Amino acid sequence: MATEPRDIESKIGNIARVNIAIALAVVVLKYIAYEVSGSVALFSDALESLVNVVTAVAALAAIRVSSKPADSDHPFGHHKAEFLAAMFVGAMIAVAAVLILIKAYSGLVYGVRLENSALGIALNASAAVVNAAWASMLVKQGTSGRSPALVADGHHLWTDVITSVGVIIGLALALLTGWHFLDPLIAAIVALNILWMGYKIAMQSMSRLLDQAASPEIERSIRGVIETNGVGAREAHDIRTRQAGRALFIEFHLVVPGSMTVDEAHVICDRLENSIERTIEGSEVVIHVEPEYKAKPDESGAVPL
Ligand code: ZN
Ligand code: ZN
Repeated sequence: MATEPRDIESKIGNIARVNIAIALAVVVLKYIAYEVSGSVALFSDALESLVNVVTAVAALAAIRVSSKPADSDHPFGHHKAEFLAAMFVGAMIAVAAVLILIKAYSGLVYGVRLENSALGIALNASAAVVNAAWASMLVKQGTSGRSPALVADGHHLWTDVITSVGVIIGLALALLTGWHFLDPLIAAIVALNILWMGYKIAMQSMSRLLDQAASPEIERSIRGVIETNGVGAREAHDIRTRQAGRALFIEFHLVVPGSMTVDEAHVICDRLENSIERTIEGSEVVIHVEPEYKAKPDESGAVPL
C-alpha cells in the first residue's frame, strides 16, 4: 500500500528534528572525550560533529521549504531546496576537513600531551555507536522518502563514524607505541577521506540541480506505460524527464491522426497522464499533441503505438 505524501513529509520532518537532538548529544559526548584526554584527534572529531548540528538544521529548513505546495512564484513546487541543502552539507564537510587538518598540523608541529586516554576513547566510541545506528537509519528513511537532504546527512554521519574509528585507532596506537605524533597524523588522514566524501555529495547534488534525467529503469517503465495505454495514438517521441527532489517532471510528444478531434486526443492524453502518474510516484506529466507528419519513427527513443 502506498504511503500518503503528507505522511512522508511529516515523517521526514520528525526524523530531521530527532537528527538535531542526536547530533547535539554526540557533540557533547565527543567534547567531553577531548576535555578529559587532551587528544588533538578527539578535539577534531568533536568539531566535525558540531558541523553535523549545522547541517542537520540545514536539512530541516530544506524539508520545510521543499514540502511547501506550488504557488504562483514557484508553480513547479519547491522541491529543489533539498538539493541546495545537500550542497550546503557538502560544503560544511569540506570546512570540517580543513579544521581537522589545521589541528593535525599544529599537533604534528608542537606535539600533543595525552592523558586519561582510555576514558576519552570510551566516550568517543559510545558517541560513534550512536552515530552509526542513526546514520544507517537516515540513509534508509531518506532513500524510501526520496529526500536527498536526509540521505546526504546520513552519508555525512557515516564520515563522522569513520572519523571516530580512525581517531580511536590513532589514539590507541599512539598510546601503545609512545609515538604521540600518530594521534594528529591519523586525524589528518581521516580529514582527507572526509574531504573526498564531501566532494562526491556536492557533485551529485549539482548534477541533480541541473535537471538530471530519471534513471534508465524509470524511463523504461514510462515507455512501457505509454505502450499499453496509448491506444488510438500513433507514436510517442521526444520523451524528456527531469528530477526535482521527490517530484519527477515528464513531457513528451504524442502523434495522433491529424483528423482526430481535440476531444478524442484529449481523452488519450488524460489516460496516459493518469496511468503514468499512478505508476511513477511523484510524477507530473505534460503531453504535446502532433499530427502524423511530425512522427519520428527512426528516433531511438520513439515509442510506436
Ligand atoms: Zn514532436
Ligand atoms: Zn486536460
